[in-house]
Amino acid sequence: MTTRNTKIVCTLGPATVEQRTVERLIESGMSVARLNASHGTTEDRAALVETVRAAGAAVGRSVAVMLDLPGPEIRTAPLDDPIELRAGTEIRFSEGETATPEAVGLSTSIAAAGPGDRVLLDDGRIETVVSRVEGETVVTEVESGGRLGGRKGVNVPGVDLGLEPVTEQDRQELALAADHDVDFVAASFVGSAADVYAVNEALEKHGADVPVVAKIERAGAVERLDGIVEAAYGVMVARGDLGVECPMETVPLVQKRIIQRCHAAGVPVITATEMLDSMTHARRPTRAEASDVANAVFDGTDAVMLSGETAVGDHPVRVVDAMATIVGAVEASDEYADRNEQDVPKPGRARTDVLARSARYLARDIDAAAIVAATESGYTALKAAKYRPDVPVVAVTPSRAVCRRLALSAGVVPQFAPLTEREKSTDVVIQNAVQTAVDAGIVDSGDSVVVLAGLMTDLEAANTTNMLKIHVAADIVAAGRSIVAGVATGPLFHAEHGDLTSVPDGSVLTLPTDFDDEFTGDPSALAGIVSGHKGVTGYSAIVARELGIPMVGGVGLGDLPSEATVTLDAERGVVYEGDITDTR
Ligand code: PEP
Repeated sequence: MTTRNTKIVCTLGPATVEQRTVERLIESGMSVARLNASHGTTEDRAALVETVRAAGAAVGRSVAVMLDLPGPEIRTAPLDDPIELRAGTEIRFSEGETATPEAVGLSTSIAAAGPGDRVLLDDGRIETVVSRVEGETVVTEVESGGRLGGRKGVNVPGVDLGLEPVTEQDRQELALAADHDVDFVAASFVGSAADVYAVNEALEKHGADVPVVAKIERAGAVERLDGIVEAAYGVMVARGDLGVECPMETVPLVQKRIIQRCHAAGVPVITATEMLDSMTHARRPTRAEASDVANAVFDGTDAVMLSGETAVGDHPVRVVDAMATIVGAVEASDEYADRNEQDVPKPGRARTDVLARSARYLARDIDAAAIVAATESGYTALKAAKYRPDVPVVAVTPSRAVCRRLALSAGVVPQFAPLTEREKSTDVVIQNAVQTAVDAGIVDSGDSVVVLAGLMTDLEAANTTNMLKIHVAADIVAAGRSIVAGVATGPLFHAEHGDLTSVPDGSVLTLPTDFDDEFTGDPSALAGIVSGHKGVTGYSAIVARELGIPMVGGVGLGDLPSEATVTLDAERGVVYEGDITDTR
């Protein structure tokens, strides 16, 4: 199984509504599907969430859904036909539903603007400057003209228009997010941590606990980045609006700073907009676009995002293939490895941070195949990913929602594994997690792995990861029934008639299905019992229970030679070849 570190977010739209197309996006590398609520209807989005879920299940991968709220965006009035706005002419802006070359209606008043402020239309393609304000009408002169279509974006850089962070339309979308269990909500035009909390609060009113991704697209948000990074689950470098709200030449630097800040904090960060823009129609990206994607990966972004390329593009699957190829090439390079090695964040104060950072170096030094993070809330896996180990972080979790959420984090391979109540012991949690990594084909039997566990107890809920261990992955040689719980390792001893007079200390006794004798000799030398018989009330089961030694039933190990070492995991009723506890 090949794994890429950097994740791909695809915006879905008219070009990608069919389930088979979404499946192909996933097969090509999409980990997160973004639904942009600025377009289409809420009903369409509800259907699309279900399509993504069905496609993820069909492909067998955890795919997250991110609902991107319009936020306090301002749009021009709808228009059937574009109008021409000429340089040097005067335009009056006020709240309204009609637009002419002299007076353009807007979705929201911009009367807080003052003389000299700039009012930019359609991603900054049309530039006007405020000459005066008459009540609620802002009068501007066109500096740089152009054709204006309906419902185009309006930016008034650097002006606090006093807009509510969560609009009425956002609230409707949040109801959808709650009803359909979307995995992330992206909050547009946030200005501060308070705006992020306002979205959290609105979600809570719907009884939903959905992580919020803060889109950084205003100069004010860049200034208040630290607070936003602390408040949000994740961050998006929304370069489209950022390049209109801030001088365009600052965007590359701001991108680097945001990624670095998020990386240091262990907060997932997405680099967005125009990454492979020409591929909306073209079959190949430009060299500059390939370099842009590559540089974002070098910067350490968790994810790269496609917008119109996949939402309305001519060949969405091809675009994802191209992006995955560029990302893969960078991640295979020595430069990328060197960069990751030199750019390890300082440890945070939490115990999990320290253990996760150690896990990173331990994995490198023992040449481990993976870091296996047994995680209930996702916290342990996020911390492991923060330090960007050069091996995959296999996040094994009993929560499908956590699996999907971790699909946004670089280097994390989320794996779902249910866990029963009685499996909540350290050994079983570890075996279960490592076996899941083996079953997924990420780790081979015999590989060393570093296990990091927020043990599957209430402990992790309190954000405590309390175990770091080197472990040798091993394949299960037989599976039966747990008769007496526990874990034991030792050489096999085949005793057909129950003769234990010469049994070496610490042996694992095997009994055939038809064993109906009693033991001769001292059974206290035994470390465990494997019986062909499944019964829990037979003689050997009673002895095992009395001695308190693990026993697995319904398993025949006659094919394995006497003295072959096995490990019994009698909690799960499985037997491994070899001593897989030898590094404890
Ligand atoms: C952006 O501005 O870069 C962005 C991602 O936001 P939207 O696509 O909603 O404008």
